[in-house]
Amino acid sequence: MLRLCFIASAILFATSLCGQLYAQTNPLAYLDHYADAYYPGTDFPKLTTPQWIGEEGVDAVVTLGIDDMRDTAKYEAFLRRILDRLKQIDGRAAVSIMTCKIDPTDPQLQDWLAEGLSLETHTIAHPCPCLQGGDFAKAKATYDECVDMMYAVPGNHPVAFRFPCMDSKNTPSPRAFAEIINKTTGNGNFLQASTSVVNVFKSNDPQLPQKLTLNADGSERFERYIPFESFVNKIENYPYPYVIDRLCWEFPCTIPDDWQAQNIQQPNNPRTVDDMVAAIDATVIKQGIANIIFHPHNWIRNDQMVAVIDRVQEHHGRRVKFLTFKECVQRINDNLLLGQPIRAADGGDNGVRIVDLNQDGFLDVMIGNENLKVARIWQPATKTWHDMPHDVQFTRPSESGRIDLGVRFGQLSPDRIGLLVNNEKDQAIYQYTPDEFVRTSL
Ligand SMILES: [Zn+2]
Repeated sequence: MLRLCFIASAILFATSLCGQLYAQTNPLAYLDHYADAYYPGTDFPKLTTPQWIGEEGVDAVVTLGIDDMRDTAKYEAFLRRILDRLKQIDGRAAVSIMTCKIDPTDPQLQDWLAEGLSLETHTIAHPCPCLQGGDFAKAKATYDECVDMMYAVPGNHPVAFRFPCMDSKNTPSPRAFAEIINKTTGNGNFLQASTSVVNVFKSNDPQLPQKLTLNADGSERFERYIPFESFVNKIENYPYPYVIDRLCWEFPCTIPDDWQAQNIQQPNNPRTVDDMVAAIDATVIKQGIANIIFHPHNWIRNDQMVAVIDRVQEHHGRRVKFLTFKECVQRINDNLLLGQPIRAADGGDNGVRIVDLNQDGFLDVMIGNENLKVARIWQPATKTWHDMPHDVQFTRPSESGRIDLGVRFGQLSPDRIGLLVNNEKDQAIYQYTPDEFVRTSL
């Protein structure tokens, strides 16, 4: 009894301590926030391209995502020059099409898949915002039907979603991430990524030269594209993939896109091309990913998109890789996560946490499930991962879906990261050290 009391009070002490730290200073609180899509920023630890690309000499990635597809012939006509230009680089046409509605048997889709495009999702009905009119079921249905439709395309495996109108309105919402994207469709299908939050480069980023972030008159170069003052669907100076609510990679979108540009300076303005290229240049300096949005809606011409590709090739050559979202997710799963995606086969939490364990400013990886228990610490000097076995399991399968095993991260002191484990099998604090996780029983 005495021992039980001791354990109980120790757990109480630890949880109240964690509660205090959580409230005051815990830099790892983002792991437990409810569907927070906006936690990273200038000072948040980075997940640079060399950490996940699996290809020597590549510093940055560019994705080209075209939205709103309903009519494949219109998209083929607009895209052809762009696809042919991309194929000159390495034989692949790395464009992602965010689709609203198509016929899954349309032969054009098979031609595109063979050329290397990825066919992704954007909802059937394009509601802005998705959650509106007090009709949650309608919002989930237009998302689910689009996901199932893209799974019905033979040979296609969609991975990514873009919220309609995310560039012009505050359309993404926490509930949509938590209860639609991070769930499965009635058929059991699910995605692994969103590309719906805008990243804006600003002159307060110490890594970036101000000739990239400021106009000649000293005003901010990219902030002017933000559509209105209360536009909050944005993060700053963070061109890296990050995880929303444990189950969804976010590939933040580069400012400007063609809608934002035509909104302030007319369609097809050469300045739009200049600023897209400048944003990609900034992304290369930060070794990140630039996710360029465009449309075939007469806001930017296809030869202007070809000019963006030409200039990126000219400036950076092999240092920049054009990838589809499908390829990005594949490389993250293979090279960063050792074949353990953040979503398990049933779509649930696979026990993968992205966290800066050694607090060096680069994100590390902790995998803890029934298949693998490994902490991966990034070594920036050698651009390699140091893998360290451990005993902590975050989730496990059960008949009613995957179960959270009650593990929480916290900062034990300014230089110590620890995990509090409290479940039927283990009650302990595990402290990260460079050699091992040191276990202290509770
Ligand atoms: Zn759209």
